Amino acid sequence: MSPPVFRFAPSPNGRLHLGHALSALRNEAEARRLGGRLLLRIEDIDAERSRPAFEAAIISDLDWLGIRFDDVVRRQSEHMADYHAALDVLRGRGLIYACRCSRSDIRSAWAASGLAGRHDPDGAPLYPGTCRPALDGAGSERLDVDVETALAWRLDMARALDAVGPDAGYKLFMPDAPETWCPVQPARWGDVLLARKHTPTSYHLSVVVDDALQGVTHVVRGRDLEAATDIHVVLQKLLGLPTPQYQFHDLVLDEQGLKLAKSRNAPALADLREAGITPADVRRQLGFA
Ligand code: GLU
Repeated sequence: MSPPVFRFAPSPNGRLHLGHALSALRNEAEARRLGGRLLLRIEDIDAERSRPAFEAAIISDLDWLGIRFDDVVRRQSEHMADYHAALDVLRGRGLIYACRCSRSDIRSAWAASGLAGRHDPDGAPLYPGTCRPALDGAGSERLDVDVETALAWRLDMARALDAVGPDAGYKLFMPDAPETWCPVQPARWGDVLLARKHTPTSYHLSVVVDDALQGVTHVVRGRDLEAATDIHVVLQKLLGLPTPQYQFHDLVLDEQGLKLAKSRNAPALADLREAGITPADVRRQLGFA
């Protein structure tokens, strides 16, 4: 049997902080425990926010922490054709549709619809379905819009769930507990965006395609991505890709009890290093003595 494959997948839109360090170290620890390989993937599909300088800094911070990766780095921006091909498969199955709504269109249609007040697990208003083709086929010309010319592409969640069937789920593996089966509840996300005109893929689509192409068998990620995993399982089923096992770790919180974030000025690992903190201190502080 081939060894398990893990990955750490940061986005190069800022410096790494302790939250990233925890995720990377937990992947390293689990890969060691299960005799697996550990890959590094740079999630740089957002051309506006990603910077080569941040990528270089991420690689040097991980090196400073003493984490070693197997194989070459996969950079998502170099694989847009893979995501395009996956989107085309979904389009061919009539499972996505072109959406022309702006954010303000969505807010006003949502406020006037039966979904008013209902949000997805990330707190965004549920898409009210303005551009969704009707089940009787009315509006289905939207399925023929060229992938390049639509403003955005959305998954038709009701059709997707019909195609996937009722038993979708994933195996949860934790360090100190027996494996458990987690059924997914993707309907609470509504018709999620899978691609936009200027970023012709999305976090959800590219993460699913890459995990499969890189042979990832075990995904260790923060609890903030637990609900999004339900979307990933649906996409894996629709695209005929294997579902990895998943593990979710607690988040590192700041003094206000909020998740560390670049936008709230969480100190970068580089700042800690400059203040004289060592990689051993970071490992100890995060529980990896
Ligand atoms: N790139 C994502 C992030 O930095 C994490 C990737 C994942 O675990 O799917 O939050």
